[in-house]
Amino acid sequence: MSACVERIPFVQIRLQVHRVSRRLGNRCLRLTWPISAGLMLLLSVPAIGVAMLFGARLLPRWRSGQNGRPFLEYTMVNSLGQPLPLLGPLPQLWNAVRGDVALVGPQARCLGKLDMRSETARRISSVAPGLVSTWFLRTRTNVAYDSQADTDLQYLDSHSLLADLGIAARALVAIAYGGAPRKVRQTAEILGLPLDNLTLAEAIDEIVRPSAQVRQVSFVNVDCVNKSFNDPGYRNVLLTSDLRLADGIGLRIGGRLLGNEIRQNVNGTDLFPGLCKRMEQEGLGLFLLGGRPGVADDVAAWMRKCYPRIQVAGTQDGYFRTEEEGVIVERINQSGAAILLVALGAPGQEKWIRRNRHLLQVRSALGVGGLFDFYAGRIPRAPQWLRELGLEWTFRLYQEPGRMWRRYLAGNVVFLARVLVERWKLK
Ligand code: UDP
Repeated sequence: MSACVERIPFVQIRLQVHRVSRRLGNRCLRLTWPISAGLMLLLSVPAIGVAMLFGARLLPRWRSGQNGRPFLEYTMVNSLGQPLPLLGPLPQLWNAVRGDVALVGPQARCLGKLDMRSETARRISSVAPGLVSTWFLRTRTNVAYDSQADTDLQYLDSHSLLADLGIAARALVAIAYGGAPRKVRQTAEILGLPLDNLTLAEAIDEIVRPSAQVRQVSFVNVDCVNKSFNDPGYRNVLLTSDLRLADGIGLRIGGRLLGNEIRQNVNGTDLFPGLCKRMEQEGLGLFLLGGRPGVADDVAAWMRKCYPRIQVAGTQDGYFRTEEEGVIVERINQSGAAILLVALGAPGQEKWIRRNRHLLQVRSALGVGGLFDFYAGRIPRAPQWLRELGLEWTFRLYQEPGRMWRRYLAGNVVFLARVLVERWKLK
């Protein structure tokens, strides 16, 4: 801790609260949770009885507990062996009463899945697994970008009583989103737009892969789907893009309602650090086009700070005249950039890429909306806990209510109505 931080009284109080909360975290939750779990278990006995009367059964599985100690966990499954919605994990309350699991902790693993010789496995199993976990939260809201082990390590680095209670509260909301996507197709069609059902890592692989002609990558969120209904030109650009990536919780909900599960929330802002890392490793150059004057340069400064060997091939603000397009395309080509990010807002950026695609000499051109504003520090991004709830859009609404109410409040209702009509037609 640096000396300047130690001198600030407010920070000291916060640090103190955090230390106490961290110390209490495990103990309190392990002591009080079994009591409430016992009560809930009592209430759930009739529920389990009724479910079993209708053909459900208990599926036993050996799990690895604290310090690798094995314990038996039961899940309520239907005749096909699939966990029952909501009722499925109820028998696991018994494990909480027995002290096999805590309310919040790392995700419980199947026995033998953790190699206890590794330092990572030893750290993960140094605390009891949780009934809910950060991994559980992130898979429910489609933002599980890191591996399960990395997610557990992040949890262990920051866990405390307050943080655990926050995870437990968010888990209640995440349950409403339904289980993690299981049967995912390569392409998920939503309201006539086929989306490439890739993970963030797969999308990066695809974006950096050499290509004979420029690959147009479009991120599609609820607002884009709505705009595509009123703008046939934009819809056509989306339909003929080389990659269409599903951005946001709205598409996850829409996909589930239509029986087309979305594998992961692949948005430009979360993809950017991974893309920078990859480009640094492969020595590929990146050109930043768009944003207010100076914003792209601030993003370039952020990139150089976080990825010192990255090649920023060039920058250009997004407020130029149409006549200047030719010169800008020439600059991009001269820069030798492999990837071009275009931040002019949708649908302008997608149409710009399409208009100039035949002239550009990059591997991939991506329309990235407000990404530059976030990485330049011009607009703060929603905190991680809000993103884990799938509610990043509420933060954007709070930041710019005048501009965003139409996009989010009206737009989300219109999108959901369209999805429900489509679902009704499919029946
Ligand atoms: N922008 C630009 N030129 C324009 C209009 C917009 O460079 O002519 C930039 C603007 O400064 C902002 C981004 O495009 O950085 C649009 O952000 P927004 O969050 O509206 O993107 P959307 O989510 O609508 O794609």
